Formats: sequence, C-alpha cells, structure tokens
Amino acid sequence: MYIDGFQPMTLLDWPGMVGCTVFFAGCNFRCPFCHNAPLVEGERPAPALTFEEFCSFLSRRQGLLDGVCVSGGEPLLHPQLPQLLETIKALGFLVKLDTNGSFPHPMRELWKFGLVDYVAMDIKNSPARYPETAGVPGLDLTPIRESVSWLLDGHVDYEFRTTVVQQFHDAASFEAIGPWIAGARRYYLQTFTPRDTVLRPGLTAWDGETMEKFAAQMRAYVPHVEVR
Ligand code: SF4
Repeated sequence: MYIDGFQPMTLLDWPGMVGCTVFFAGCNFRCPFCHNAPLVEGERPAPALTFEEFCSFLSRRQGLLDGVCVSGGEPLLHPQLPQLLETIKALGFLVKLDTNGSFPHPMRELWKFGLVDYVAMDIKNSPARYPETAGVPGLDLTPIRESVSWLLDGHVDYEFRTTVVQQFHDAASFEAIGPWIAGARRYYLQTFTPRDTVLRPGLTAWDGETMEKFAAQMRAYVPHVEVR
C-alpha cells in the first residue's frame, strides 16, 4: 500500500487537534475548484510514503500528534483504507475522514468497526447546482443525501463544509443548503484560494464581507458556523 501524499503536521484540518494528513489519489468527482488536481486527474503521483514508512513515522509521533486526517481525492474509494485505519487506531491515534459523501455504506462500516472518530463531509452546493459544482453532469444525489442524513443522526462527530466560489455560489445556494443540513453540529464556509493546481483556471473567491453574509444566512439553521 502507498500513501499518495503526506503532510507531517497540520493544525488546521481538525478543530482543536494536532494531526498529520495522508492523501489518496483518485476521485469520482471533478470539482472545477479542486486544489488537488494532480491527485484527481492525470498520472498517479509518485508515492509520498510506503505504508511501512508511514507506520514508522506514526510510531515516532505517539504522544505528539492527536490523530491522522485521511484525505484525497476521495479516500473511501480505496479498498485498503480499512487496513490503514486499523493500523492508525492500533497505534492509539484518532482518525478524521474527509469525504465528498458519495459512499455512505463504506463510511458507516468504518464507523461500525470503530475506525473513524470525526467526519468532514463536503456539501458542494444546493441540490440544484450540485452536479455542475461537483463537475459530474447528471449526478445522482441519493448517496449524498443518505450521507447527510446519517451524519445528522449524530452517530459520529462531524462537520459539513462548503468551498465557496464566486462562479458557483450565491445567496440562493445557502437558502437551499440551510434547510437541508438544519440542526448540523458544525458548518464551515471555506474561502476559495486560486492556485496553479486548480482543475479549472479563472475561478474567483468572494470577498470577506460576502462570505460573512453567507455565514449569517446559515446561522439561521446551524448554531456553529464559521468562515475559514
Ligand atoms: S474537491 Fe474533493 S471531491 Fe472535488 S474533485 Fe477534488 S478531491 Fe474530489
């Protein structure tokens, strides 16, 4: 097993936790604003770490890191993910899973076996604009809705988050997202940052004032909303 990308320390990915992040290549979505285009499209990148190297790293970080963020791409596409998470948990670390919500059954299975402590699920946009925002024309939202409902039931700690892009999101987006995830524990609006690795060049971020207006819209439905 290979780890396709690796960040040895992050304070940003998991509220209140110090962690490292592993990235897996491959995704079923093609979000135009995706920052991880090299992981999502094109050649499989040179592996950042072997499984053995990663385990050795973790063994040396016991007591120094709280947990491991597992990101992508879409990590739930990887058949060896359970094996990786079992190893992480056996070494005493918490696990945060980043997912686009397309695979509710594997997500529930990981939770059932005690392999996930926190889920960060993307809400790409309002249902009406979901397919274009995910870059998948005709996308069936059934599994996304199932993941949202399961997380709202509160089996595992979680957050929902939306990367906000001027070309895809406006007030109508949050008028629809709000009632959909009403009562959620946490919701983050992430300011889009243009980078060279973005799938579609030319996309732009909203200014801070507009982001705060969107956050205010969402606070009618979710008590903990932040712009980050
Ligand atoms: S933003 Fe996430 S869900 Fe979208 S293409 Fe990139 S890795 Fe996949």
